[in-house]
Amino acid sequence: MRIVRFTVDGESGRYGVVGNPIPDSTRGNGAESAASGPVVAELAGHPLGAIESIRLTGARFQLDEVRLLTPVVPGKIVAIGRNYAAHARELGNEVPAEPIIFLKPATAVIGPDEAIQRPADLSQRVDFEGELAVVIGKPAHGLAPEEAKDAIFGYTCANDVTARDLQAKDGQWARAKGFDTFCPLGPWIETDLDPGDLEITTTVNGEKRQQSRTSLLLHDIPALVSFVTSVMTLLPGDVLLTGTPEGVGPLEPGDEVSVTIENIGTLTNPVVDRP
Ligand code: ZN
Repeated sequence: MRIVRFTVDGESGRYGVVGNPIPDSTRGNGAESAASGPVVAELAGHPLGAIESIRLTGARFQLDEVRLLTPVVPGKIVAIGRNYAAHARELGNEVPAEPIIFLKPATAVIGPDEAIQRPADLSQRVDFEGELAVVIGKPAHGLAPEEAKDAIFGYTCANDVTARDLQAKDGQWARAKGFDTFCPLGPWIETDLDPGDLEITTTVNGEKRQQSRTSLLLHDIPALVSFVTSVMTLLPGDVLLTGTPEGVGPLEPGDEVSVTIENIGTLTNPVVDRP
C-alpha cells in the first residue's frame, strides 16, 4: 500500500492511500472517481503502525489534483554514513566495520517538488545523495535483527543533501547535513516491499549520476535497525536513511534532482539558492 500526505488548495496535510485503482481491501463508502488515473483516497486518522486497521473517510481525489507533502513528519532522522563500499572509496574513506550513524534535524525535511535551498553564503559544494529511507511504525528499543521487520512501517525515497565542504571542514556532520531543506522525502511510503535488492538511481536534469542496488548495502536494514536501537529508542514516524551509493556530485541552482527506487517511485526536487 502506498501512503501519502497531501494537501488540497493549501489546506493542512491529510493522509491518503494512492492506487490505480485503490486496492479492494481499503474500499470505503465514498463515491468512485469517474476520471481515470491514480486516485488518492483520504485516510481517517494517522496511519503509522496500524496498517491493518486503516479506514477511509470517503473523500477521493485524482493524484494530479493534490499536492504531495513529505509522507512522514519524523521526530528524528538517523542516517548511516558510508554504507556502500564504492561510495566510501570514492570519498577516500575506509569501509567501516560498524555502521556510522549521525542525526539530521526534522526541520531539514521537505516533500516532493519542494526546493532544495543551497546556502551559497556558507557552502560552495552541496551534493545530492540518493538513499532508501526506512519509516518506523512502532516504538523500538534493543531489537535483534530478526525483530526489525516488526518495527518497520514502510519505505520511501530520500535525498541526504550534504554540504560536502562543510562536512570536511567541521569534522562532524551536523552543520553539513542539517540545513533546512536538506532532507527531501517521498513521494509516498510503500508498505508492501522487500527492500533487499532494489535498484536505486539518482538523476540530475535527467542525466544518470547514481545507479546501484540495495543488495550492496554493507549493513543491511535489519542490522541497521538493530544497531540504532541498541543506542536510542526509535518512535513511530522516525526515519532511517540507509546510506548512499557511489556517484555523488554537486547541485547547482536551476538543477532538478530525482531519486528513483524500484517498486517505490521517484522523488524529484528543484534546486535554488536560498533567499
Ligand atoms: Zn547519506
